[in-house]
Amino acid sequence: MHLVWFRNDLRTSDNSALYYACLKGPVTGIYFVTPGQWKNHQLAPIQADFIEQNLKVLAEELAALGIPLLIEEVADFSHIPARLKQIQKDHHINTIHANDEPEINEKERDQAVKKAGLPLVLYQCDCILQAGSVLTKQGGMYKVFTAFRNAWMKEVKQTDLTPLPKPADQMPSLNVSWSKNISVNYDKKSSQAWPAGETAALRRLRHFLLQDIEDYHHNRDIPSLDGTSGLSAYLKFGVISAKRCVYEVLAAFPDALDAQDSSVFSWINEIVWREFYRHLMIFNPQLCKGKNFNKLADNITWSNNPDDFKAWCEGRTGYGLVDAAMRQLNQTGWMHNRLRMVTASFLTKHLLIDWRWGEAYFREHLIDGDLASNNGGWQWAASTGCDAQPYFRIFNPIIQSQKFDPKGLFIRKYVKELNGFDNKKIHFPVNAIVEHKQARLNALDRYSVLKKG
Ligand SMILES: Cc1cc2nc3c(=O)[nH]c(=O)nc-3n(C[C@H](O)[C@H](O)[C@H](O)COP(=O)(O)OP(=O)(O)OC[C@H]3O[C@@H](n4cnc5c(N)ncnc54)[C@H](O)[C@@H]3O)c2cc1C
Repeated sequence: MHLVWFRNDLRTSDNSALYYACLKGPVTGIYFVTPGQWKNHQLAPIQADFIEQNLKVLAEELAALGIPLLIEEVADFSHIPARLKQIQKDHHINTIHANDEPEINEKERDQAVKKAGLPLVLYQCDCILQAGSVLTKQGGMYKVFTAFRNAWMKEVKQTDLTPLPKPADQMPSLNVSWSKNISVNYDKKSSQAWPAGETAALRRLRHFLLQDIEDYHHNRDIPSLDGTSGLSAYLKFGVISAKRCVYEVLAAFPDALDAQDSSVFSWINEIVWREFYRHLMIFNPQLCKGKNFNKLADNITWSNNPDDFKAWCEGRTGYGLVDAAMRQLNQTGWMHNRLRMVTASFLTKHLLIDWRWGEAYFREHLIDGDLASNNGGWQWAASTGCDAQPYFRIFNPIIQSQKFDPKGLFIRKYVKELNGFDNKKIHFPVNAIVEHKQARLNALDRYSVLKKG
């Protein structure tokens, strides 16, 4: 019997571990619910629900292939080797197959499993090009995104992007009892705005390719529009693979990789950012522990005022766009990319609050909360990261508002008390907790420790 250990790869197609295990013999799937680990990793309640819903769909899809899915609960990763040992004994497991993950705790978990003498084989399908494989001529990690992207594109053009098919039907094993009534034991918040399953993800992707991708370049920065794919949660939990996404894009737009000015290229560019941050994590595992990428940033003195932080979290800063964004996050579990940049900049530069506070808050609330992308985004905005925003670039929340929400449509949706304000006035602060010009000067002063030399 072969065991396929599902983690953030909750799909049946383009799943290397599942596909190759099924070539070898009868297969059983397993998923570990780890409430203690999830708490520790700040898994959002909406993510717990999304996992549960996707496990239900996955279990049905696997059942149709003749593969049972076991759901096991352990407090945290440290209990997995012992539980796997028992399962190996009970079910005569020959090999455990799983897809590799880039984060430090996940890597340590897998090492502990191997150290316990369990036959774990790891496959690569989290990224299109294996995390850590796109290297400079000197064999190091690219520290500039554009250079990374150019090398990535060159490699991808020579790579077969055809996704692996679903495995063939298996002969069901009679001695494995199937998990019924899947329910994960964690605080949960409904994820129904993101219908679960690979088919739903593919539908979303295809809708985006048909309707939106050609306008992506123009619409992606306007939060009142539905101009982006909305695929991040599916990519986070591997309900769809990044390779499948790019494969489908290129099937519809075969020249996209060579059309750098096109909208389609700019969407693929975002998928490359995802890969960039995962590569970064392999080369700098300490990022997982909350370390600044730029060591000079260790010298920044943060103000860390708890009242300011609370006002930011609750969408009460007095700046309409910032407040609307935070309320969008609190109410829906998602935030538009432009607004993630605006709110992160506001927290770290206007309020001089440590980016780690904001990073944690995002993770506790986002449906797509992901260590690599969230850390990358926060360190970019806080100017502490790799190829980050220069420290002296400080978003002016009023100008951002005028530019990206000119008619205040997005602001009015979430900050009802500003409904009566006209299109001009709505961008200006009301009872703001900081004044922009002074905050900017304070930030320039505190951040001056990042000046080189
Ligand atoms: C401060 C901050 C925090 C962020 N935290 C996360 C996070 O926890 N999880 C997350 O998936 N993304 C994060 N992002 C990136 C980005 O905001 C989201 O991926 C995007 O808003 C998701 O919406 P979408 O799927 O419609 O994106 P689209 O615009 O349709 O992009 C397609 C896909 O590309 C990837 N992507 C897009 N932008 C980025 C980016 N800047 N970095 C890495 N990958 C990207 C995502 O997987 C996304 O689904 C963060 C960005 C910032 C500035």
